[in-house]
Amino acid sequence: MTIGGHDGVTCSVCSNTNGHECVLGNLNRCPMCGFVWYPITDYPAVSLLYEDAYFAGTEYPDYLGQENALRKSMRRHLSQMARFSPLEGKLLEVGCAYGLFLDEARLHFDQVVGVDVCANPVSHACKQIGVDARCGNFLRMEFGAQRFNVVCLWDTIEHLPTPGDFLKKAAELIVDGGMLYITTGDISAAVARMRGRHWRQIHPPTHVSYFSRETLSKLLRLSGFTVVGIETASYYHTLFNILASIRLRRGVFGGVASGLLSMLGEGLARRFGIWLNLGDIMFVAARRIPTTIPSRTQ
Ligand SMILES: [Zn+2]
Repeated sequence: MTIGGHDGVTCSVCSNTNGHECVLGNLNRCPMCGFVWYPITDYPAVSLLYEDAYFAGTEYPDYLGQENALRKSMRRHLSQMARFSPLEGKLLEVGCAYGLFLDEARLHFDQVVGVDVCANPVSHACKQIGVDARCGNFLRMEFGAQRFNVVCLWDTIEHLPTPGDFLKKAAELIVDGGMLYITTGDISAAVARMRGRHWRQIHPPTHVSYFSRETLSKLLRLSGFTVVGIETASYYHTLFNILASIRLRRGVFGGVASGLLSMLGEGLARRFGIWLNLGDIMFVAARRIPTTIPSRTQ
């Protein structure tokens, strides 16, 4: 199964086809709007990109082993959302993975639904967590007359080769005035600019779309949304997760992290954690522009 892909030349944000600049090694940058993407025409099968090792070794050191830390971060997302809109009604999460956010969200929302392309995490969400999670390509999924008050994409849009299609589909499913919440890396952030091609968010082909505040705002406007707030997102990490993530990147720092981890021992490193916010992950709140103008009464 494939999930579409860039044609390599068309900008997903402004549709410019008149050339692009090569930046950060093997990425393209649109000279018109500044959107950065990984040019890919033959997108690998989802099953190859997101096999089980993705969540336990290649991209995440140990996703489920970090459940408590992840839940803390998810609860923080919820409190951030609550500043923009009440936590009520129906919620849809695109890219729900193991369903941890859905489990936290259902304490507030009347109904929560998740979708993801990864079969095993979705199965875990359904069977172990007991939430309504569906496996498949969101773009091809049927929702009938179902509409949602809130749609969330946590650390998901950077994985999408055609992000505009996902936002337009989300807009179709959100009630007028409903909310869309997104977290993703901010390529215009100081840390990203400083790290260049070594920025931790740059790892194609799983990350293919690299937004700035400006390009994401533009794509949201073109997809039927008004941006009502852009903040940064904080994540709770155990010491184990921090050191194991650095170890995954290898190099000198990877070696130091590996040494520290052996010295401390895994048990101890999993017990302690801190909130991290490097200012390079955006938390974006956008409101669905009403499709109908209510009639005025005098
Ligand atoms: Zn562009």
